[in-house]
Amino acid sequence: MCLFCQIVNKKIPANIVAENNEFLAFHDINPKAPVHILAIPKKHIDSFIEVAPESMSHMTTFIQDIAKEVKIEKSGYRVITNVGEHGGQEVKHLHFHILGGSKLTWEEFSNADHKNNL
Ligand code: AMP
Ligand code: ZN
Repeated sequence: MCLFCQIVNKKIPANIVAENNEFLAFHDINPKAPVHILAIPKKHIDSFIEVAPESMSHMTTFIQDIAKEVKIEKSGYRVITNVGEHGGQEVKHLHFHILGGSKLTWEEFSNADHKNNL
């Protein structure tokens, strides 16, 4: 069972923000912003590559509701899903990072080699 499936099954504790039949949201253990929440489907899906587009409509509502709940909706926030090796995905269970609580930058991407993007 993968790490996030163990969190879904309450075998590993997490600081849970919201939960319904389909999705779970909890605080990232290593936050990269003042607010850093992970939203995941309870059903195991490896990554964004495998997700059924129709299930994303419910996920979208879930993420929007979390932003309201933790009061970052008005100030703004960032939603990221890392995919595979180049995306830097470490946990192979689809998750959306919800980052906010301060002004975020693109600093991390400033060293990208734009010449080799094709
Ligand atoms: P990614 O690199 O996109 O796969 O992101 C995985 C995220 O999961 C990282 O931001 C980690 O800090 C976070 N993480 C790893 N283990 C846990 C855990 N037990 N509880 C909460 N977040 C975790
Ligand atoms: Zn899983």
